[in-house]
Amino acid sequence: MAAQIIDGKKISKQVRAEVQAGVAAFKARHGRAPGLHVVLVGEDAASQVYVRNKEKASLEVGMLGAAHRLPADTSEAKLLEFVSELDARADVDGILVQLPLPKHLESDPVIDRISAAKDVDGLTEANAGKLALGRPGLRPCTPYGCMRLLEAIGCDPKGLRAVVVGRSNLVGKPIAQLLLQRHATVTLAHSRTRALDEIVREADIVVAAVGVAELVKGDWIRPGAVVLDVGINRGADGKLHGDVDYAPAAERAAWITPVPGGVGPMTIAMLLGNTLEAARRREGEVV
Ligand code: NAD
Repeated sequence: MAAQIIDGKKISKQVRAEVQAGVAAFKARHGRAPGLHVVLVGEDAASQVYVRNKEKASLEVGMLGAAHRLPADTSEAKLLEFVSELDARADVDGILVQLPLPKHLESDPVIDRISAAKDVDGLTEANAGKLALGRPGLRPCTPYGCMRLLEAIGCDPKGLRAVVVGRSNLVGKPIAQLLLQRHATVTLAHSRTRALDEIVREADIVVAAVGVAELVKGDWIRPGAVVLDVGINRGADGKLHGDVDYAPAAERAAWITPVPGGVGPMTIAMLLGNTLEAARRREGEVV
C-alpha cells in the first residue's frame, strides 16, 4: 500500500487564508492590524532567510510585520532591554526571537522577557507550563502545525498510540503534550532510548523530530500508521532529507509528510495564526 501524502503546502495555504480573513475582520473591529515582531541577532544565513520569510508572510496576510536585526556582538543586557521595550509597546502583539542566538547569549532569559500574551512561539516558561497543565495559551508553532495536519487528514489521536522521537523543548516535548491532550497514548523517545525500532513499530502515529537524516527506517513503520516527519537535514547531495527514510516508509504508512513540503510550511502559517490569536486576546476577545 502506498501512503497518501499529507500536503503541508496546501494545508498551510488554507491556514494562511483563514488568518488573512481573520486579520481583515480584526482590522474592521479594532481599527488596527495585529503586529508581529521578529528579532534576529547576528548574521546566521539560515536564520536570515527564516526571518525574511516570517516578515513577508505576516505582511501578506495584512499584519504589521517587522524584523529587527541586531549585530552579532549585541550584549545580553542590550538584547534583554530591546525585548523588554518591544514587549511594552501597545502595537506589538507577537514577539519571536529567532533561534539559535550567537554563542555568547543564553536563549532562556531572553525568551522569558517576552510576556506570555505576546509569546507567539509558545516557548516561554509560562506558555510551556500552560501547555503541560492543559490550560489555554500560545502553542509552539511546529507542534501546533503537526496537530493541524492530523486534523486536516481526519486523524483523531484519541486512543491511538503515538511515538514521538526527539524530546526538545521546541518540538518533541510540546508535540507529546498536544497529543496527550488529544487523548493519545504517548511515548516520548530520545537519544538514550533503547530498542527504538521496537517502540516505533507499535505506533499508530509517528512523529520524528530528531535532526538525523533517515534515522527512522521504513520497516519500523506499522502498516497503516500516520507519519509526521519534522526533520530538516541537508544531505551531501545538497537536497533536504527528513528524519524518516521516506520511500520505504511510504510503502507501509497510510499517510506521510514529505520533506520538504510537509511539516515545514506549517510552522510560519501557525505563527501567523498565533499572532492573530494573541492580538484578539489582547483586545479582550474570547478566542
Ligand atoms: P534538537 O537537536 O533540539 O533535538 C533533537 C532530539 O532528538 C533530542 O531530544 C535527542 O534526544 C533526539 N535524538 C538525537 N539523536 C537521536 C537518536 N539517534 N535516536 C533517537 N533520538 C535522538 O532538535 P529540534 O530542534 O527538536 O529539531 C529536530 C529536527 O526538526 C531538526 O532536523 C530540525 O531542523 C527540525 N525542525 C523543523 C522545523 C520545521 O519547521 N519543520 C522546526 C523545528 C525543527
